[in-house]
Order: sequence, then structure tokens, then C-alpha cells
Amino acid sequence: MPTTKILLDESEIPTHWYNVISDLPNPPAPYLTPDGKPLTPDMMTSIFAPALVEQEMSTQRWIPIPEEVREIYRLWRPSPLYRAHRFEAALGTPAKIYYKYEGVSPAGSHKPNSAVAQAYYNKIAGIKRLATETGAGQWGSALALAGQMFGLSVRVYMVKVSYQQKPFRRSMMETWGAEVIPSPSQLTQAGRQALAKDPDCPGSLGMAISEAVEEAASRPDTNYTLGSVLNHVLLHQTIIGQETRKQLEQVGDYPDVIFAPCGGGSNVGGMMFPFLADKAAGKAIRLVPVEPTSCPTLTRGHYAYDFGDSAGLTPLMLMFTLGHDFLPPSIHAGGLRYHGDSALVSQLCHDGILEPIAVPQLATFQAGILFAKTEGILPAPESNHAICAAMEEALQCKQTGEPKTILFTLSGHGHFDLASYDKYLAGELSDLDYPAETLQQSLQNLPNITRS
Ligand SMILES: *Cc1c(COP(=O)(O)O)cnc(C)c1O
Repeated sequence: MPTTKILLDESEIPTHWYNVISDLPNPPAPYLTPDGKPLTPDMMTSIFAPALVEQEMSTQRWIPIPEEVREIYRLWRPSPLYRAHRFEAALGTPAKIYYKYEGVSPAGSHKPNSAVAQAYYNKIAGIKRLATETGAGQWGSALALAGQMFGLSVRVYMVKVSYQQKPFRRSMMETWGAEVIPSPSQLTQAGRQALAKDPDCPGSLGMAISEAVEEAASRPDTNYTLGSVLNHVLLHQTIIGQETRKQLEQVGDYPDVIFAPCGGGSNVGGMMFPFLADKAAGKAIRLVPVEPTSCPTLTRGHYAYDFGDSAGLTPLMLMFTLGHDFLPPSIHAGGLRYHGDSALVSQLCHDGILEPIAVPQLATFQAGILFAKTEGILPAPESNHAICAAMEEALQCKQTGEPKTILFTLSGHGHFDLASYDKYLAGELSDLDYPAETLQQSLQNLPNITRS
């Protein structure tokens, strides 16, 4: 019987994070202030821990993981890599399909990989409180968990539509001691402004970021943390790809193609960056971020300088963006509703090294349900995007007879997303149109940056 679950020993948890910046063909574009000047590190340390700012700008290839962080990683890492025998059989494909399962963390996704590191560096910097935003609730719960582990208070601004759709994510955060506020809220100027414009505003990740940043900037005991997009977050996630490489070596395999769902790019970077050097050395491997057609940042956005939040409080980053005031439709993969994307992932897409695709909502649920029926694990709606792409690739292999090796990140489980599965099963979900008109409008509001 061929192996199903490929495991590593605890001692094989990576000792270093991999910094892709050291190996990029082109140096990353600097972050800019709204007037077009490069952002300096001390501007960032007003809301981020110094060690994280250092990592954000570092060009060092390998960055040691503190023992205190590895100690907490041991609660769920190394995470398992599975060979999807039953899914393959159901598809009748000659392809081999592997998935790296990050849903084994206490919060149910890959997000604690960075949350634990961020809480640690804030703790040793003497910070007492953390403010953050959350979309679907996964990052908020990851940070609530991490804050609890290091004795930090956590306040989470949760996108209102998710707060209403996913009440149990809030219970989880509160159980871990965090305070959860639906965003937009009356607690910040950014929130009050949004509510004045539209009292029924469903919120967005960009808006919740504005609220959390505003709070961190106004309190010296409080720092801000972000669950995706920034270089240091992707850095922390590289343990995913490093472990996966080892696990595949153990069974003597190597992927022809890797899929990962893409919201802000952290599990994409985490899985794919450790394979980039092979690609640069001429290995034929396709690296494919998968996003929703209703929030098509990498496939339909502009590559331009834009703010990370809707109020324009963050620095400007060169990235693929739909415009910082783009309000994505309320699709069920809340973690993929973001107007922008990691600058590193964007740059690699721009350079043609990563090859993003977009898939529609209904097909993702269809794929996720077949996966649940065959492999047993009920996936997060975000993860369904990668499953959908892997399934299409496997079905193509069936046509061509090619026995490719397909790998994807199963970024989380969907136990808190059952309301959306209910809706799908009741036939109440639809493929939301590609929002061409809203998009054209929001792209007109991109900041006008002429780089000096
Ligand atoms: C947050 C999240 C994503 C998307 O975020 P990235 O930063 O793009 O990885 C995908 N899947 C799950 C389960 C998530 O929680």
C-alpha cells in the first residue's frame, strides 16, 4: 500500500525562515510615504516590533527561528503532507496529488505560523497590547491564540459581514482572551467616516486595517500586526514549503506544479518561495497562486503603487491592486477578499515567475465537496480555490495521459464555514460577476506616484 500520510519528526521543524529577497532576480521596490519618499525603518517601528521591521527589510537568506517560537510550533508542527489517493481515484487521473495540511494548527489554518512569531517579537520589545484586523476570522483567532501564549492583550477589528456570518470565530477569539469589534466601528475615526457614508457598510479588510492601524498609532503600549501581505509574514510562512520539500524527498517525489489559494499571498509565499531557487536553476515547475474571479487582484488588477488599507493610512506598496477603495462582493472565502497583494508575490507575478489564475465560487465548492467526500477533511472555502485548480489540472492529465505530480496547500479546515456549505448545498450560492464597473471606478483612485 503506498504511503498516505508523510510525517516528519518534531526535531525536523525548520530552524530558519527562508528570506526570498536574497534570491530575487530584481530587488524589491521600496515602500513609499504618500508624498513618494522611501519609507524609513523608524516610521514603521512606531507601530511594529523592531525585530519585525528588521525582517521586513532584511536581505539575509536564512533567519534563525527563536527557540521560544519553535517550542510553540511543536504543538502542531511539522504538519502532515498527504498523498490524495482517494481523490485521485475519484477523478480517474494518472496524476499524483499531494496536499500539505495546515488545518492541524489550534486555530485551524496556517496563520499561527506568523502570529506566534509576531507575538513573540512584540513581547520581547515590551509591548502590552496588539491591535489587528481579521477578515474571515482566521487571522484574528491565530493572533488571539498567540497573544494568549505570550500574555499580550489582543483587540481584533473583524470585517462586519464575517462577524455576522461567522459568530463562532468570535467565540473562539474570546475564549482565547481577545476582544472582538465589528468593523467599521465607532471606536476610530476611519470607522466613523465609513459609517457616516454608509451605515449598512459590510466592511472590508482594507477598512478594518485602517481601524487597527489608527488605534496602534495612537497608543504607545499597543502595536499593530498584519496576518498577510508584508514580507515578514511571508517569511514566517516559509516553514510550510521547507517541510514539504523534505516530506516529498522522503517519498522520492517532486512537484510539476504547485497551487495555493491567494488572499494577501502569505501561504503562496510560504509554500512556493522555498521552491523558487530550483525554478531559477532551470527546474520545470509551475507555481500558481489561485484567487477568486470576484476579487481578481493578480489576474485583473493594476501593477501600481497603492495603499494597503482603504483610508490611506498605510505606506504605499508596489503591488497588484484593484484600488484601495475597491469593495469586493461578499463571497464566502472571506480570507480572499482583499484589494491588494503581497509586494513580493506581485513582483514575482509581474516577472512571470508565478503564474496566477482565478476560479469562480461555485466550482470551488464543487471541488471542495468532492475532496471532503474522498479525503475526509472538510476544507476552508479559501482552500477550495487550490483544490479546484488542482482538480482541473488532474482532469487535464486524464485527457493527456500525463502522470504529473500536483501539490497544493490545504491552508485550513472549514469547520467554521459550515453556513457557507449549507448555502451551497441549498443551491443558494452563485458565481458573482466579475465586478468590472466597481473596479474601473476604484482603479481611477490609485494614488498618483511619480518615483524619484
Ligand atoms: C487567510 C487565509 C487564506 C488567505 O491568506 P493568504 O495570506 O493569502 O495565505 C487562505 N486560506 C486560509 C485557510 C486562510 O485562513
